Amino acid sequence: MPAEHLSVETRSVHAGRADLTALGVHVPPIDLSSTYPLPSVEEGGEAYDQMAGGGVRAEGQTAVYQRLWSPGVARFEEALADLEGGEHGVAFASGMAALSAVLLACVSAGTPHVVAVRPLYGGSDHLLAGGLLGTRVTWTDAAGVREAIEPDTGLVLVETPANPTLDLVDLRTVVAAAGQVPVMVDNTFATPILQRPLELGVTLVLHSVTKFLAGHGDVLAGAVVTSTEWAQRIRPVRAITGAVLHPLSAYLAHRGLQTLAVRVLAQQDTAQVVAHWLTQHPAVQRVHYPGLEGADPAGLVGTQMSGPGAVLAFDVGSYDGAAAVAEATELITHAVSLGGVDTLVQHPAALTHRPVTADARPGEGLLRLSIGLESSADLIADLDKALSNA
Ligand SMILES: *Cc1c(COP(=O)(O)O)cnc(C)c1O
Repeated sequence: MPAEHLSVETRSVHAGRADLTALGVHVPPIDLSSTYPLPSVEEGGEAYDQMAGGGVRAEGQTAVYQRLWSPGVARFEEALADLEGGEHGVAFASGMAALSAVLLACVSAGTPHVVAVRPLYGGSDHLLAGGLLGTRVTWTDAAGVREAIEPDTGLVLVETPANPTLDLVDLRTVVAAAGQVPVMVDNTFATPILQRPLELGVTLVLHSVTKFLAGHGDVLAGAVVTSTEWAQRIRPVRAITGAVLHPLSAYLAHRGLQTLAVRVLAQQDTAQVVAHWLTQHPAVQRVHYPGLEGADPAGLVGTQMSGPGAVLAFDVGSYDGAAAVAEATELITHAVSLGGVDTLVQHPAALTHRPVTADARPGEGLLRLSIGLESSADLIADLDKALSNA
């Protein structure tokens, strides 16, 4: 593991790769084995018990079966844990699979109550509101966390910046209010380049690796970074339910980490320019972006996060207006998801947040924009044309 004194930029290039030179290779080998040779019945059984019970594979031990352990997935987990400053990463087939494993661990421990701060990603909201996994939810805001906690509360869940309104939540306040109850932060929008919640007392960090971490729109993946104790609780859930990350996706996500810092910082610079330009446009009623003046009254950008990120939202006042803009862009792709190298626009109320109850759903005129690596001038020209046509 890279030394702790190295910057997050340097670590993002080298994390999870310390043994490659000794192996005689420069990039991680891709092992697609679904099963592994067993040296003996006895040793196979011991390895099975260890990994199915939540432990990691010991040096030289058989991996038994890909659902229990896979070397490329373990490399990616180690790299992400390094960047977030956590003891362990546990990777999943998607962000939703990662969230599900944490919720199932809470339910099976007899603490099925979740305190959730809205807004959350629409899928997370849907999973909690529907109670599919046996959880019970109390929705609140950051100020209401303390009061919402009950004897069987297993988790406090927050997202900052939140999807899609870019609301910021003060994590130190939430951690203090949660007391003994673990706090999980969805860090998908900020990435460890801009925000490391574990350093603020948070217990679990959730990622949709699909977004900025993998970064190129070709991987579906999720991860939790957390303590040894929590990793041991969620690995067995992953092993039993089978929502594992594919080794090829793990390879791509691990490679994505190497350019994470340059991508996030460049995309953030462009987002700042585009957000400011949108505030001046007559067809735009409101721009949501933590980097705009007055958008961060608590001063969390610069303290909790090192920058406002590369996702913004803007309101054009009506469903029809928003639909017309989303359908009129040419360079910018009209698609859900975010955090890739190309700019995407989508209508949260109709798409990503469609399952959210009406009173908590984003506005009908709101569009979310995930800024990519194109030049700000080209993006502005495309938005200008789409806004004037609409
Ligand atoms: C996309 C997203 C998720 C869900 O992740 P998947 O990889 O699509 O399952 C969770 N949280 C946030 C903030 C997201 O943007």
